[in-house]
Amino acid sequence: MTTTELPSRANAVIANTYARYPISFVKGEGATLWDTEGKAYTDFVSGIAVCNLGHCHPAVTRAVSGQAADLVHVSNLFYTEPQVRLAEWLVSRSFGDKVFFCNSGAEANEAAIKLARKHAKEVRGTKRYRIVTMEKSFHGRTMATLSATGQEKIRKGFSPVLEGFDHVPYGDLAALRKAVTEETCAVMLEPIQGEGGVRVPDAEYLRGVRRLCDETGLLLIFDEVQTGIARTGRLFAYEHSGVVPDILSLAKALGNGLPIGAILAKDSVMQAFGPGSHATTFGGTPLVTAASLAVLETIEAEGLVLRAEEMGRYFMERLGTLRRHPVVREVRGAGLLIGMELSVDGGPIVNACLEKGFIINCAQGNVLRFVPPLVITKQEIDLLIPLLDTLLEDAV
Ligand SMILES: *Cc1c(COP(=O)(O)O)cnc(C)c1O
Repeated sequence: MTTTELPSRANAVIANTYARYPISFVKGEGATLWDTEGKAYTDFVSGIAVCNLGHCHPAVTRAVSGQAADLVHVSNLFYTEPQVRLAEWLVSRSFGDKVFFCNSGAEANEAAIKLARKHAKEVRGTKRYRIVTMEKSFHGRTMATLSATGQEKIRKGFSPVLEGFDHVPYGDLAALRKAVTEETCAVMLEPIQGEGGVRVPDAEYLRGVRRLCDETGLLLIFDEVQTGIARTGRLFAYEHSGVVPDILSLAKALGNGLPIGAILAKDSVMQAFGPGSHATTFGGTPLVTAASLAVLETIEAEGLVLRAEEMGRYFMERLGTLRRHPVVREVRGAGLLIGMELSVDGGPIVNACLEKGFIINCAQGNVLRFVPPLVITKQEIDLLIPLLDTLLEDAV
């Protein structure tokens, strides 16, 4: 198939749910992708914060091909070793006692929402069911998670949405306190908002949320689907503030591209789930869990948590030098989750970067988002900066 015919053939048979660029990639290695014409691109998106180890990391390729030759799937009617070992790894590095595996970020948050409601009813014996979430949040596209998501455009056309979600401004503790009623069972938020435009709350806010949850008997759910797995310079972003949630959701980078999601919780919370209460056919198959275990072991073996922090600091410093352009409002983020808010539409800059062989992304229309693989080098960052400098100079 030629590059020119691929878009029209795709558009003829694939649902039109994404505005795609007319580019098709055939190979990836580290932070580099090659298209059908052999043109190389430096990837500052990582398949939207997914390929944290870079593309086709040999440890993951080995784990996938080895496991695929042994056993791919048997269902959760049986025990499989890779699933147990992955859960043990996650439990040993987090606040959680128990893990539930699923297949995506939306599914992980769906599980978190169901768990919070069931915990309120069956463990605490209350009638509470409402969950307070944040404006500009993003929690997924299933009916429950789009109802949780604090963005009107995500819910548009799907009403009536699921009842029981209240949205308050992110970072506003007083608004949160006001929204909590006797029917509230949980607060759900991203410790750094990703799709909302890389918004970093101060640690004091997160501590205040934790205190409020403790005082009023609410569970605190952190959606770390985007921030988890070393992205922000910590294995989990909650480590920055030291605020420990009751339920944590993961997905994106957990499998470096293999579809896997998970929630972690304390035993006292996860006990609300029993046989038959929640399940998914593909959750934690030997194939994806073997891949994910290889991802996590590689992150540790290659010191990528520290690397994300150091490279993030370097990248943020370099981006900071571009603040002299009047269109740049702010540069913010943590580790290698970085946003540059502009006073203009970011779309043309994303397109111009693509043209020059750099893949970047834009959130909320005007926040350039940089989420490169954690193996990105200073040299690769140094090549992007002068290009952005020129493009920001010309931006109006
Ligand atoms: C991407 C994302 C989701 C949704 O994950 P999917 O795998 O696309 O369902 C949920 N929450 C956050 C914070 C995300 O960034």
